[in-house]
Amino acid sequence: MTNTIKERNVVLVYLFGIFTLGIYFLYWYVQTKREINENFGASIPTCWLLIIPIANIYWMYKYAEAYSLYVKRDDNTVLWAILFILIGIIVPALVQIELNKYVGKTIPKGLVKSNRRCTNCGRIIPEDANLCPYCNKNFQTE
Ligand SMILES: [Zn+2]
Repeated sequence: MTNTIKERNVVLVYLFGIFTLGIYFLYWYVQTKREINENFGASIPTCWLLIIPIANIYWMYKYAEAYSLYVKRDDNTVLWAILFILIGIIVPALVQIELNKYVGKTIPKGLVKSNRRCTNCGRIIPEDANLCPYCNKNFQTE
């Protein structure tokens, strides 16, 4: 089964964002938040928080947490949250590049608790996996 992630050109995302004086970025957050929750089983709260001072920092933390745990699967929530909150302009590039990698692929739901990382893509994978669920690297041929 494929997913509902939409492939977007990162340069166009920024061009639309600039030409609409930032409105497109809000739309982009609404769309990608929905895509991450729907396809990865994350639970980022409503984007309305984005337009409320202080609450927007909390929202960005939750968005960075979902990006780290579910999309990038690198377990670096704090690092990404600090980057996302301090240098917000880089968020669409980082997130869209990762999301584009999942377009048309089957996404394993839920979180993997494991100490093993794929030697190819660096994501956290099950200890006993013969095949990386994300990049399809085959470990049996090694
Ligand atoms: Zn991999």
